[in-house]
Amino acid sequence: MTTRLVAAAAFALSFGVALETQAPPPIRGFTARSSDAERQAEEKFRAIPRPDNNREYMKTMTEAPHHAGSPGSRKVAEYILGQFTSWGLNASIESFEALMPYPKERLVELVAPDKYELKLKEPRVEQDSDSTDPGGLPTFNAYSADGEVTGELVYVNFGTPEDYEQLAKLGVDVKGKIAIARYGRSWRGIKPKVAYEHGAIGCIIYSDPHEDGFFPGDVYPEGRYRPDQGVQRGSVMDMPIHPGDPLTPGTASEPGVPRLDRSAATTILKIPVLPISYGDALPLLKNLKGPVAPEAWRGSLPITYHVGAGPAKVHMKLAFDWAVRPLYDVIVRIDGSEFPDEWIVHGNHHDAWVNGAADPTSGQVALMETARGLAELMKTGWRPKRTIILAAWDGEEWGLLGSTEWVEKHQQELSTKAVAYINSDSTAKGWLNVSGSHSLQGFANDVMRDIQDPKRTGKTLFQAKVDRAVSQAKSDAEKATIQKRHDFPIEALGSGSDYTAFLDYLTIASLNMDFGGESPDAGVYHSTYDSFYWYTHFSDTDFAYGAALSQTIGTALLRLADADVLPFEFTATAKTLRGYVDEIEKLQKEEKDAPALDLAPLRTSIDRLQKAADAYDRAWTQWSARGTALDRAKQVELNRLLYTSERAFKYDAGLPKREWFKHLAYAPGFYTGYGVKTLPGIREGLEQKAWDEPKKYVPIVAAAIDKLAAQVTRATSLIAGR
Ligand SMILES: [Zn+2]
Repeated sequence: MTTRLVAAAAFALSFGVALETQAPPPIRGFTARSSDAERQAEEKFRAIPRPDNNREYMKTMTEAPHHAGSPGSRKVAEYILGQFTSWGLNASIESFEALMPYPKERLVELVAPDKYELKLKEPRVEQDSDSTDPGGLPTFNAYSADGEVTGELVYVNFGTPEDYEQLAKLGVDVKGKIAIARYGRSWRGIKPKVAYEHGAIGCIIYSDPHEDGFFPGDVYPEGRYRPDQGVQRGSVMDMPIHPGDPLTPGTASEPGVPRLDRSAATTILKIPVLPISYGDALPLLKNLKGPVAPEAWRGSLPITYHVGAGPAKVHMKLAFDWAVRPLYDVIVRIDGSEFPDEWIVHGNHHDAWVNGAADPTSGQVALMETARGLAELMKTGWRPKRTIILAAWDGEEWGLLGSTEWVEKHQQELSTKAVAYINSDSTAKGWLNVSGSHSLQGFANDVMRDIQDPKRTGKTLFQAKVDRAVSQAKSDAEKATIQKRHDFPIEALGSGSDYTAFLDYLTIASLNMDFGGESPDAGVYHSTYDSFYWYTHFSDTDFAYGAALSQTIGTALLRLADADVLPFEFTATAKTLRGYVDEIEKLQKEEKDAPALDLAPLRTSIDRLQKAADAYDRAWTQWSARGTALDRAKQVELNRLLYTSERAFKYDAGLPKREWFKHLAYAPGFYTGYGVKTLPGIREGLEQKAWDEPKKYVPIVAAAIDKLAAQVTRATSLIAGR
């Protein structure tokens, strides 16, 4: 895309400036004049974040366990509120509640051929004083069923549907047995769901050292990786059906509202499931016989991996208290001076599984420092033109509870007012990752070009990313392509953090940002060892990238809040959609039994969108060069068309088998969870051999793309002054 260069040239010509000495082109969405003021405000803002503040907030917030529903979580929410208020921000706590069952009883034992009672406990690490803090939840999977079962064990690899096909070829099944799956490949909630669908009576999930332990590197505390008895906690709620409180889908879970009976909730697992360490898994797996596991199924434990069934026989007993517990979302609101009914929202969760230094505090402290930056900037007289809302969410770990309930409560207002949602969660060190809506791809790249990498002197975040991609390229041709590319393509979002309700339920354009690549947090993820000691020894140890995240997201917030014309564009959307259709065509050819499916209507609609997007780009470039302010009524209408563009993909009836999910372009995979399924109605229909669905969804998606194209065309006529 060459929009930016064209704009620069046109700008230079119209002001008679020689190209070599020109000022930078206006920031996307600003005129030459308003761009200067914006740059000044941004530079002031970017000088504010201090890494040492991140360290101090993190030290305080990770002193004790603060899982959702606990007094520790409330204390953290009140601390965040106190900080926001002390900086002069208008902040308050919005409370919700949700079913959050804590474990009462956990027992797993090998009863044959040997006897072994699993430890199910993470021991103290000498150097890490937080590793024995009282008040933490034991190791468990949230939303497991209660139950007591005894059965032969079967090793199911990652526990995906394909693994069960392989198992069937080996002549093994899990009916009436207990499945043991390793973490990885799919989202954890998929493993017990698929085990249950295949008739298993219980499920154990363990961290194999091959993915998560001594194979990738030294274990904690010598290194960053998961030690022998470290356990990954986590939710197994069936989030691809819907996230949020299992008892109030689609409505805000406030005290006194009607709730489903627990037996009617569709997202609670039907069998008991528990996560364990590789230390506890070894005695179980060692006692499996039956076929030797296929090579790709073998992990790094010192055994020959067999799939069973048995002779290992396991007894499991799990009981939960099934209590409804409180949630505390901390919300900051900075009212816009010119367009108060256009909202820019940024959130990060504050609840953890235990002390949670990386997840989520590293991202939460960056959000706090961003908030302080905005407060400081306001003291210099700056006011955002649009309203900025910052949110510290509670209950993310359990199933995106705090963000989902907040979105469901404010859905009417958000549908009309929300311009964009920017999410962050855990952040580490390395390179900026951006994923999300392709209408903001150019915008996100522009932001990356204007922020300095804190460690790679003289390089912007964008250049650092280019250098890395070039160093990883497998051929000279690939290198050349990367260097020529104007923008980094951003990945689509599936699910896995608090953007889900914004993007997938209300179809609000969303971005997710974090730093990573140099310091994986896999080693302590969702364990007791995700502590201040671990983070300050093995991750973003001096918080330089945490401060850079504040600079990045803060800059994005300022731009979105103050732009004359919101920085959406649609050429990347058209290009990305075309890629998705190509993938679907390939998939359709691979599916031998698939009936004929005519994808031509999709391609016709995408061509229309492409034309509309190109015309918008040209009109925007001319407007930007002219630098004339828009008539206010036109400006409001234009911006509304731009920021509601993602809503063209909203399908009120929802996706097959999960009507809470409304976005026709993106959804978390029904059988993969995290992994995004693009054009899910069509793609998953083919994958699951539900042949009627692709037929049904092709015209629906084509109509959505047409709607978007018409909206872009209307925006073009407004920006062109017609
Ligand atoms: Zn998180």
